[in-house]
Amino acid sequence: MLVLILFFVAHWYLSLFSQSFFHHRYAAHEQFTMSKGWEKFFFVFSFFTMGSSYMSPYAYGILHRQHHKYTDVEGDPHSPYIQANFWQMMISTYNKFNEVRDGVDDYNPNFKTNLPKWSWFDNFASSWITKLGWGGVYVIIYLIFAPHWAWYLLLPVHFIMGPIHGAIVNWFAHTFGYRNYDCDNHSRNLMPFDIFMMGEGYHNNHHAKAASPKFAHKWYEIDPVYPVMRLMNKLNIIKLKPVLVKAD
Ligand SMILES: [Zn+2]
Ligand SMILES: [Zn+2]
Repeated sequence: MLVLILFFVAHWYLSLFSQSFFHHRYAAHEQFTMSKGWEKFFFVFSFFTMGSSYMSPYAYGILHRQHHKYTDVEGDPHSPYIQANFWQMMISTYNKFNEVRDGVDDYNPNFKTNLPKWSWFDNFASSWITKLGWGGVYVIIYLIFAPHWAWYLLLPVHFIMGPIHGAIVNWFAHTFGYRNYDCDNHSRNLMPFDIFMMGEGYHNNHHAKAASPKFAHKWYEIDPVYPVMRLMNKLNIIKLKPVLVKAD
């Protein structure tokens, strides 16, 4: 049982770290740079941590830039103010994501600049064969370690871990929570202590200062990804762009 708890927690946080660090802060927002070698490393790291819900950082970057440009208004690919309900938003985002990844979108070419691209790897990592392979790995782990069938109810969360993380922010962080900034959109900070979303829950802070790599802006807010980025910056793995956030 302990093995499964550890597996679930590790999958949740490592997958979320990849999405926040590599897809969101690096690809979509270019808050830091890294060498092509490290870029490939984090492509592979994302593949192993996201598993069956691996997302192309290229497609993620285009869709996310679209979200920032048209937040909560017509043109936003995912918003509680555009789609009728949570599930419709998830399905619509999934379809749009695949269109962008497969190049059948008509998005603004400006959204495509400086995005990390590794086409064959994205195709391999996003293929159904690969996704089913990861799904098989998760099922085997549960078959070995689950003490009761009820544990299998957690399996769907493993299968679509990445989209679940995305939807929590895209729906709930535009609906519930508090605001530090009076932005012209509905973004919210989900909770003062963002223990579940690794800083991604400070979505109102992020929409207010999208270029900043630091998502926690108040003294009591904690963004665990930012110190890791500071460490990587010290170790010359990444190079942070000099954006200072005034903590007010
Ligand atoms: Zn963003
Ligand atoms: Zn948003």
